[in-house]
Amino acid sequence: MHIHNLSKENSVLSQFISEIRDVTVQKDSMRFRRNIERIGEVLGYELSKTLEFETKTITTPLATTETLVPKNDVVLCSILRAGVPIHNGLLNYFDKAENAFISAYRHHLDNPESFEIIVEYLACPDLTGKTLILADPMLATGQSLIATFKALQPFGIPKNIHIVAAIGAEVGVQFLEDNLPKNTNLWIAAIDKTLNSKGYIVPGLGDAGDLAFGVKLQH
Ligand code: URA
Repeated sequence: MHIHNLSKENSVLSQFISEIRDVTVQKDSMRFRRNIERIGEVLGYELSKTLEFETKTITTPLATTETLVPKNDVVLCSILRAGVPIHNGLLNYFDKAENAFISAYRHHLDNPESFEIIVEYLACPDLTGKTLILADPMLATGQSLIATFKALQPFGIPKNIHIVAAIGAEVGVQFLEDNLPKNTNLWIAAIDKTLNSKGYIVPGLGDAGDLAFGVKLQH
């Protein structure tokens, strides 16, 4: 896997990451959602540099000219519900992308520290030969992303796979490395050292879904 860890260079991205982590700023849910969206935009911009482009002849008011535009073969997929803001950020830049949505959640077994990933809702176009971008704001264990990747397999084999995440844990990055094709690209804005016993990234930011959309009841 090719890991593009954008925290290695200074940019406004680190300000967005700082704000989503900060307990005094992250309580503003509109700002939290917009910051995650902005992270999706920046990571999408960086990722776009690796896409295939084609020449398009266009007419300006003064002449015709040749321009370069990305080939329209992108499918964006995110996991409900925490994935919605990062999905929106990517969609802001990949205007013509097709979209897939999947619901995956942690079903806690006997105790809060063990869980399995349940995949339920899935809506997906044909993926054959396309550029698949899987987005998840928090790459913790990596299990949800791999469960998603497996659930998408009946929809065709994509030409390229990109993973987009705001914050990851080292163990989750390793899990992806072990379970995804070698030519997969990971675009990530920060990689933290650890996970706690409940599978939360430390230092992380807490629960991205709750911060974006409100605290859910556990059932
Ligand atoms: N999901 C979150 O929202 N936060 C984490 O730290 C891990 C998974």
